[in-house]
Amino acid sequence: MLFTDLKIIKPILDALQQEGYETPTPIQQKAIPSILERRDLLGTAQTGTGKTAAFAIPILQNLTERQGPKNNHIKALILTPTRELAIQIEENINSYGRNLSLRQLVIFGGVKQGSQENALRKGVDILVATPGRLLDFIAQGIVSLKNLEIFVLDEADRMLDMGFVHDVKRIIKLLPQKRQTLFFSATMPSEIQKLASSILQNPIQVEV
Ligand code: AMP
Repeated sequence: MLFTDLKIIKPILDALQQEGYETPTPIQQKAIPSILERRDLLGTAQTGTGKTAAFAIPILQNLTERQGPKNNHIKALILTPTRELAIQIEENINSYGRNLSLRQLVIFGGVKQGSQENALRKGVDILVATPGRLLDFIAQGIVSLKNLEIFVLDEADRMLDMGFVHDVKRIIKLLPQKRQTLFFSATMPSEIQKLASSILQNPIQVEV
């Protein structure tokens, strides 16, 4: 199977070709068609499997297809536990979306908020965030999630291990009910399964 078999729009296919990607990895083959159909997804997958592109590519496509007049609403949120993962994910989105007109931003804690705040005020379509910094911006009224269309919870088991579960649950309470949710975890202990079933609706399950 090739990326050209997955109904991916030309500007994204061109970007993938520029990256040197030809063949989708197993998780990409399984996840991309369902995410393009706006289904929820429960993915059991480690880093290194191509999981980032598995959600980034269809998110870019879904947002491009329903792109209305430009506005400053955050349309997709990717929540991930660490600054390093957040930076990597934003870099990937930037690369796969290079021929599109969506705006993405990464925010994380441990640095001054000024430049992140300025970028947020200019308008962001896809936000990649760690939980604490996101909650800070929400508390200050700089970020609103009320128009969110797509929510990704990345590395859910690590979120739990790092003590972020309370923050994650607070964020989830602020999301619109009607949304697409993509949930990824390397392992599925019962606490993670419980969290997943409380936020997913009739998800496709993918395991790699
Ligand atoms: P991830 O599991 O998302 O951290 O991705 C692991 C690495 O594989 C990243 O460096 C990606 O750039 C790369 N990658 C992802 N999908 C593909 C693909 N279909 N072909 C070649 N490389 C890929």
